[in-house]
Amino acid sequence: MTDAGVGRRPEIARALAGARTVPYWLDQSDAPRPEAQPSLTGRTIAELAVVGGGFTGLWTALQAKEADPGRDVVLLEGRRVAWAGTGRNGGFCAASLTHGLANGHERFPAELGELESLGRRNLDDIAETIARYQIDCDFVRSGELAVATQPWQAESLRETAALGARLGSSSSLRLLTADAVRAEINSPGYLAGLWDTAGCATVDPARLAWGLRRACLDAGVRIYEHTPVLAVSEEAGKSGRIALTAPGGQVSVRRVALATGAFSPLLRRLRYYLLPVYDYVLVTEPLTAVQLASVGWRRRQGVGDSANQFHYYRLTADNRILWGGYDAIYYYGGATSAGHDQRPATFDRLASHFFATFPQLEGVSFSHKWGGVIDTCSRFCAFFGTARAGRIAYAAGYTGLGVGASRFGARVLLDLLGGEPTELTELEMVRTKPVPFPPEPLRFAGVQLTRWSLARADEREGRRNLWLRALDRAGLGFDS
Ligand SMILES: Cc1cc2nc3c(=O)[nH]c(=O)nc-3n(C[C@H](O)[C@H](O)[C@H](O)COP(=O)(O)OP(=O)(O)OC[C@H]3O[C@@H](n4cnc5c(N)ncnc54)[C@H](O)[C@@H]3O)c2cc1C
Repeated sequence: MTDAGVGRRPEIARALAGARTVPYWLDQSDAPRPEAQPSLTGRTIAELAVVGGGFTGLWTALQAKEADPGRDVVLLEGRRVAWAGTGRNGGFCAASLTHGLANGHERFPAELGELESLGRRNLDDIAETIARYQIDCDFVRSGELAVATQPWQAESLRETAALGARLGSSSSLRLLTADAVRAEINSPGYLAGLWDTAGCATVDPARLAWGLRRACLDAGVRIYEHTPVLAVSEEAGKSGRIALTAPGGQVSVRRVALATGAFSPLLRRLRYYLLPVYDYVLVTEPLTAVQLASVGWRRRQGVGDSANQFHYYRLTADNRILWGGYDAIYYYGGATSAGHDQRPATFDRLASHFFATFPQLEGVSFSHKWGGVIDTCSRFCAFFGTARAGRIAYAAGYTGLGVGASRFGARVLLDLLGGEPTELTELEMVRTKPVPFPPEPLRFAGVQLTRWSLARADEREGRRNLWLRALDRAGLGFDS
């Protein structure tokens, strides 16, 4: 996909002119954000504290209560539940725990079959939880369609299908010819497709998170919002207890689950493994029946294209198209700030690519544009660990695919805090860590060089230059 004329074409400026600068999911009039829970004031005691009110934290708190309703659990969120990645993502809820089959095969070849089956079970359990708590979140198991827009991408889809067949996933994987994929979704650029009919659902992520929040509260979890934890320390004189300090108060606990995503981690060691990378999204106005018919998309799959710099897109319940990805922006020093949530050059590029993919939708406007930060790690899928003799555990590094995997990550967190070996704690994926990133300024330079190289690989039929091949050999990398 070329960027010729990006940002200068008047039709792009017109299409983006009225877009609101907030995430669509957090801005729906028929699904208002719940009132904030009070912030922590004074001192309190609990057995388990969960830090972070995104999907990882919510699933941790809920599953802790489900396993032991008598357990005293608090959840501390620095701002509002689901304000971060959890409430501003694409809403692809994937079964894969490894950011796709190919990445899983690269990292954990010996246990990929087991990880795939744990991932499918995890997705089934998410569906079951949504039904049990009657969470109204437009959860649709429509599968995911990977599309090729270049011949080399079609070849890589065939390789993924062959890998899936070796792992026994072939019953849900369908290779589609250009005609077949265009019969599903009509874009002149499609050359082939690989439809995973069972491995992904689409969801309204904010409503899912708010439903989980409700379920936590009903189960007796004490949630404190606007409560940033500033420090985690050993409590003086009371062996075994940990103090979490927030501006207005303190919690004394036996166990801590850190679910803080890409944000300044409370454990120093996590800084070496995490790269906060910004990803950006557009949402259109609802399509008319005629516009939707011109695209087809009757089976409402989530779609991803297959370049190194890829787009992901899907329909919302009210027939808008959510269109995101491609650029992955790292700011020097790993800076995260509300100012980075808007990036006009990226929005122009995304809009231009949207109309190149669906020229029949010329004239459609975008209603929302936003960005959010992703907890990228060098192996592109979550990692886990403990500190302070197993009393603190963490899960992070989903690299843009944590909507589904965060429930699994939460189970791992709870198993680690339990202190006994389990099926999950024995996994290689849980026992090993990604390769750490170098410090600044090498980190920033490395990310820029990698982005440039990936863009070049996309222009050169996927051929990877020396730098990318060296990264591949070192087990380091970068993805959107
Ligand atoms: C634009 C975008 C698109 C994405 N699209 C997809 C997608 O389609 N599918 C998919 O699977 N994934 C996607 N992701 C990733 C996905 O959103 C995350 O992997 C997922 O939400 C996991 O969330 P989390 O709970 O680990 O982190 P977050 O949602 O980031 O939550 C972490 C929370 O911790 C809180 N916190 C941090 N530090 C502290 C502290 N010291 N004290 C108190 N609270 C603290 C933060 O305020 C935040 O609320 C996307 C992400 C972005 C940004």
